[in-house]
Amino acid sequence: DPGLYIVATPIGNLGDLSPRAADILARADIVAVEDSRVTAGLLRHVGVKRPMIPYHDHNAEGVRPGLIARMGAEAVALVSDAGTPLISDPGYKLVRDARAAGHAVVTIPGPCAAVAALTLAGLPTDRFLFLGFLPPKEKARADAIAEVAAVRATLVLYESGPRLAACLAALATGLGDREAAVTREITKKFEEAVTGTLSTLAARYAEAPPRGEIVVVVAPPGEAPPASAEDGDAALAEALTRLP
Ligand code: SAM
Repeated sequence: DPGLYIVATPIGNLGDLSPRAADILARADIVAVEDSRVTAGLLRHVGVKRPMIPYHDHNAEGVRPGLIARMGAEAVALVSDAGTPLISDPGYKLVRDARAAGHAVVTIPGPCAAVAALTLAGLPTDRFLFLGFLPPKEKARADAIAEVAAVRATLVLYESGPRLAACLAALATGLGDREAAVTREITKKFEEAVTGTLSTLAARYAEAPPRGEIVVVVAPPGEAPPASAEDGDAALAEALTRLP
């Protein structure tokens, strides 16, 4: 059927491509892709050949109207290089404009590094805030961290290996030395999750910057320290009653 199909693809392990995703890719009239070499590999894995059109940050404005026009009569699939389109990847404006034009929008959900990292970290998952990539420059990064320091939620962010140690140190400074997990190469051969405080993780990765793809998960702020001297005194008095 004509319309826009948002197709999640594997983040490392091709076995994670869902049968439904493979089916939609096989039947799409055209596949909008970030990088045609990457998606060509995926289509080869599925055993199909489909016409591809690049759709990425640098050409999206120019390409979008043509794609929207085609959705009236054709099935247009959107994929990114890995994982779920629209999540730190292009696509939301395509969905917005497809909807505005009255086309069907269908999602084929699947792998997403942010959600996969949450399942590995062992930190609270009832409330989380996805930050995408923090700005690389020191000042802008510190500002972005300060903005979320009071949020009572687990934080999830993407980072590159070379920048990881500096990012973890900035998080420790801006948030306090919370528990965190560095998850790496999820669903791939060297998948790992390393847990510790932000400062110990920063020290570890300053010595040896990690290879591969990384998601950082940071615990929510802990119990607030006593708000006033009175509260502190009460806690001390209570503790004293428990001394032998
Ligand atoms: N749309 C994708 C998704 O659903 O996860 C994310 C795209 S974003 C441009 C790419 C970033 O996602 C990487 O730099 C890394 O931080 C994270 N990522 C992607 N695959 C990963 C994996 N297998 N393990 C760990 N992190 C991954």
